[in-house]
Amino acid sequence: MEDLEKPKKILILGGGTAGWMTANLLIRAWGDRGFEVTLIEAPDIGIIGVGEGSTPLLRSFMNSIGLKEQDWMPACNATYKLGIRFDGWSTMAGFPRYFHPFPAQVDDYTAPVFFQNCFARRNGLDVEGHPDHFFLNTYMAEHKRSPYAGESFPFTTQYGYHFDSGLLGQYLGDVARRRGVRHVQAEVTEVKINARGEIESVVDDTGQRYEADYFIDCTGFRSTLLQKTLKVPFVPFADNLFNDSAVVFPTPRPEDLAPQTISTALKFGWAWTIPLTSRIGNGYVYSSAYTTPEEAERELRTFTGVGEAADIEARHLKMKVGRVLKHWEGNCLAVGLSQGFIEPLEATALVFVQTTVKRFIWALESANFSTEKRDWFNEDINQRFEAVRDYIVAHYVVNSRSDTDYWRDNANNKVSGSLYDVIASWTAGKDLNDELKRQKISDFYPPVSWHCLLAGYGIYPAKEGLKTRDAAKHQAKLDEIHDFIRRCSLNYVPHMDLLHAQPQAM
Ligand SMILES: Cc1cc2nc3c(=O)[nH]c(=O)nc-3n(C[C@H](O)[C@H](O)[C@H](O)COP(=O)(O)OP(=O)(O)OC[C@H]3O[C@@H](n4cnc5c(N)ncnc54)[C@H](O)[C@@H]3O)c2cc1C
Repeated sequence: MEDLEKPKKILILGGGTAGWMTANLLIRAWGDRGFEVTLIEAPDIGIIGVGEGSTPLLRSFMNSIGLKEQDWMPACNATYKLGIRFDGWSTMAGFPRYFHPFPAQVDDYTAPVFFQNCFARRNGLDVEGHPDHFFLNTYMAEHKRSPYAGESFPFTTQYGYHFDSGLLGQYLGDVARRRGVRHVQAEVTEVKINARGEIESVVDDTGQRYEADYFIDCTGFRSTLLQKTLKVPFVPFADNLFNDSAVVFPTPRPEDLAPQTISTALKFGWAWTIPLTSRIGNGYVYSSAYTTPEEAERELRTFTGVGEAADIEARHLKMKVGRVLKHWEGNCLAVGLSQGFIEPLEATALVFVQTTVKRFIWALESANFSTEKRDWFNEDINQRFEAVRDYIVAHYVVNSRSDTDYWRDNANNKVSGSLYDVIASWTAGKDLNDELKRQKISDFYPPVSWHCLLAGYGIYPAKEGLKTRDAAKHQAKLDEIHDFIRRCSLNYVPHMDLLHAQPQAM
């Protein structure tokens, strides 16, 4: 076993969001033990430059490295995010859209009623089964409230952010450099392997050689170290997830910004609408097997209302959807797009960056810097990829659109055994929470998320066949919940007031 006291050299290849998040987490964890962290990036290759939405985990990342919202948010044109609104994914009457909220403490009061209603409606009772009636964050997103309440309201709500990904990378880079990360701008053109098949050093285009104990591959879809050099296989998710392309462009922002991402189903995929303080980010994620880049761009232009406006320039991107077989091989760890990508529907990419690096730190520290936990680590990260993939696939497979082959093929798509059992439990009128518990998958997406998705698409028996019981009592309970949520929301500061209060904002 290696000596824990011996400081290690860590080399991160790649300076996108993944590279700089990794650098910050590592210097925070090990900087004071004398570990050296070097990050090499090639400005000529550049970063992917998209990825504007997060989950609440980004907040815990910022907290864990000691960054304050009032500092980093204005620098990254960031806004708050209380969840995602899904428009047009279902054609069921009464379910044209639904909201997937991040959790709030007061959900403890409303979610059980929602679960009961979902259960009753799946078993033939005519009760309210649309998720949008039951969650504080849903109401607050609609009414443009921020996640900050006054002192006298002690119930918290979880939230994420929207941000300019280029600016976030720069900000994290500045922080990491100040904290001791060495930054080199050069292109690595050669990777040297030792007799054990591990990476010994990398060489840049000026001939400079860099040795290290650990090499972190943050080279994006290129995956220069893990996939190209160490030949770790890639496991594509293309059979389950058809989207492989995207077209993106910004549009001017309106005065008032809602703290939500909107995800709208289009003919061959879906479009995001993301509010930043500087602009609206728009992107259309689609499958190139069903449409062309030109048609996709036209559709996005029509959807956003910019038409042929020449001053709005679109960027076209390809996405490699899937994961590597092993994220940690030898002395190399892949983080970010180099380890895999599940399309951005639930904005989970940075969750994987953070989780991978934190678990890597734990796996090494708890095993005295041996490789004892490597197999466990790889299996753990793979399980997370599969679980997130299944939740994303569920959005497609339960769709009821029939306007294009894309949506019809998606509805008939193969699913994993795990997802099959979740959907079967729902349609059979069983207790979904029991099924999620049985499969031990509630840690990845909790019961509220699964209920919102399946109920939000209106996957219920036909309305005409439903029985009514105690209609007046049912309505009174709904009114009570609505009133409770409305009154809770009054405690939270309006979204724009909070953004305007940040230093240098807008
Ligand atoms: C269409 C789309 C939408 C997305 N939306 C979201 C979202 O809403 N939320 C979210 O969390 N994520 C999203 N993502 C994912 C997100 O963009 C990435 O996870 C994030 O930007 C991290 O990328 P990265 O750092 O892994 O790779 P990149 O940004 O591609 O960075 C790669 C780095 O490696 C360097 N490099 C490569 N080769 C070499 C070499 N030989 N020598 C030196 N340097 C090298 C490059 O210079 C660059 O610095 C989205 C992705 C796509 C494609």
